[in-house]
Amino acid sequence: MEKLIITVAPTGNLPTRELTPHVPLTAAEIAADIAACHAAGAAICHIHARDDAGRPTHEVKYFAAILGELDKTGCPIVRQISTGGRAGKTPEARAEGLTLNPLSASLTTGSTNFPNMAYVNDPALVDYLAGVMRERNIKPELEIFDVAMIANALDLKKRGLLKEPLQFNLVMGIKGAIPATPKNLLFLVDSLPPGAVWSVSIIGPEHVRLSMMAMAMGGHVRVGVEDNIWLSKGVLATNVAQVERIAALARAMGREIATPDEAKKILGLG
Ligand code: ZN
Repeated sequence: MEKLIITVAPTGNLPTRELTPHVPLTAAEIAADIAACHAAGAAICHIHARDDAGRPTHEVKYFAAILGELDKTGCPIVRQISTGGRAGKTPEARAEGLTLNPLSASLTTGSTNFPNMAYVNDPALVDYLAGVMRERNIKPELEIFDVAMIANALDLKKRGLLKEPLQFNLVMGIKGAIPATPKNLLFLVDSLPPGAVWSVSIIGPEHVRLSMMAMAMGGHVRVGVEDNIWLSKGVLATNVAQVERIAALARAMGREIATPDEAKKILGLG
């Protein structure tokens, strides 16, 4: 079976210091945590930025600071910039981080509800972000919160906005989006086009079990404090502990861990 790509999502938009001491917030904290996660087996990092007060931001200077700190560590991990929408308002604001030309960026192909808000990605915004990524040769990781978003991605492909192989991340378990169940995972994977590369981000108590199911099916896995602040019941998670656990489970089931260079090959990056 193909080597496993582990992505770490260390920060996200929601975790705060009040919720967990283990969320990295400053550029230096995020870079140090990512480098440690790479040492534990992560090949890709999914980056959100926070401003000086720790609030989510799309301002390019904050993304640039994180990449700068990461470069200082010499860590070869693949950089993926989030265009996720809780922080920015206009399409241009959502795309600010893309001006840094990362190899990879996230692209959500539709709208959904989150527990306390609607997560709106209207068709014009999705087209705009996909177009900027195509111009800059940035590979979109398609963030899928429900099956309609797979159909939307296929429509983007049909209209020439995406290049193969398509890369999907199946985000399951957020209240308001597709629930994290084995049946739903099979359904989503079955709905992907031939040749697609896919991973899962499982939010909530099923995250270890369904991540293992994905690994057994040939999928890849994203972990990190963005998706789960709990390692197990009552135990707060560090990013490194989450990466270490997935790497150990993968080795136990006979899947080797991909390096950043191997991940680039699998995904057709750069
Ligand atoms: Zn994210």
